[in-house]
Amino acid sequence: MQLDFQNTATAFAHRSDADLQRALWMFRLIASPALVNAGEKLVHFGLRMRLPLKPLVRATLFRQFAGGETVEECIPRIEELWRHKVATILDYSVEGQSTRADFDTTVQEIRKTIDLAHRHPAIPFSVFKMSGLTSPHVLERQGSPAEFEALRQRVLDICQHAHNRQVPVFIDAEESWVQETIDGLAEEMMQRFNRERPLVFTTLQFYRKDRLKYLEQLIQKSYAGNFWLGIKLVRGAYLEKESARARQLHYPNPLQNSKEETDADFNHALDVCLQHLERIHICAGTHNEESTLYLVQKMQQAGLAPDDPRIWFSQLLGMSDHISFNLAAAGYNVAKYMPYAPVESLIPYLVRRARENTSVQGQTGRELRLLRQELRRRRQVRRTPAN
Ligand SMILES: Cc1cc2nc3c(=O)[nH]c(=O)nc-3n(C[C@H](O)[C@H](O)[C@H](O)COP(=O)(O)OP(=O)(O)OC[C@H]3O[C@@H](n4cnc5c(N)ncnc54)[C@H](O)[C@@H]3O)c2cc1C
Repeated sequence: MQLDFQNTATAFAHRSDADLQRALWMFRLIASPALVNAGEKLVHFGLRMRLPLKPLVRATLFRQFAGGETVEECIPRIEELWRHKVATILDYSVEGQSTRADFDTTVQEIRKTIDLAHRHPAIPFSVFKMSGLTSPHVLERQGSPAEFEALRQRVLDICQHAHNRQVPVFIDAEESWVQETIDGLAEEMMQRFNRERPLVFTTLQFYRKDRLKYLEQLIQKSYAGNFWLGIKLVRGAYLEKESARARQLHYPNPLQNSKEETDADFNHALDVCLQHLERIHICAGTHNEESTLYLVQKMQQAGLAPDDPRIWFSQLLGMSDHISFNLAAAGYNVAKYMPYAPVESLIPYLVRRARENTSVQGQTGRELRLLRQELRRRRQVRRTPAN
């Protein structure tokens, strides 16, 4: 089947008219920066005052961007996606943990997602964030050796479990000032567990100036050390935070000077990875149509099958269904990141999604256009008498 991102019939086949109307209403609301700002303040105030905001959040942002509050609650959503050949990556998205008990609970929850992935054909990967396993000062290398060792043991526990169950696991990338610790541990895990196949995937953010060079270094290390690389490629999520901190602390901004430079490095990294497929498996985590088509085109030029098991595409739940579902219909490997957690714990994640979509020029404009197009198409189909 020909790949066409404008095919809204395929993109939204899994959603009823009522779902589309609800999504349209929600994207219209979050298109307004003023409303998102006010909404964010209201939610934080409401949480402090213990107001019963849960039903409101659950019916809006949570419904659009999250799979459920528990793994079990996500299962119907996972199966619904899978009917359209779209896989799921369960993302336990609790943030702001601070106690040892919290961190251990997170490890147990991630082990649970690995167990489900082991049993369920619709779940090809698991994922975790190191910031969910320790305090920020440990990731910033200001903790005691004992605290660092506790983090290392938690990461080891998750990766060992993934290895036992033969479920590949992604390690998300975070802010540059904690990424060195994450990179160190991710490399250690890849060396240890990627002997026969890539089971541990690290994440590279190409809005950083130094990541292409780091990719080359990783490739050299993998040949020298005889282990596989798993690489999730993303542009990077902390643009404003990174720039603000660099300004405030007077160090050179580690990020690219422009969006175009980020785009160029992202696509160049795809080329580099494709040249080393005998050593690297990749996941392109992006909502960018050009980069997605670029990878598709390069796969075709290299004579690779769309479902080559070494190459995956991934988007976040509730965003860019026109990319995910059309890719899947054309036979490509595609998975949605499906965040789940108790509603209150997921609020920072949901607010970030709303903020990210607060631009009519960007993602939201595109979502609104596609939703309207599909609703119009359905109305026309209903009006046209069947022969
Ligand atoms: C499956 C998946 C997994 C992800 N995992 C992670 C992760 O582990 N860590 C993480 O940090 N992010 C992660 N992200 C988020 C990702 O990094 C991006 O923030 C998001 O996907 C938007 O980028 P895009 O490629 O979809 O496309 P686009 O919308 O085309 O690109 C937007 C991105 O371009 C970059 N950009 C924008 N303006 C500028 C500028 N002026 N200068 C330089 N760069 C600029 C920023 O990175 C921005 O987010 C993930 C995304 C997905 C879909």
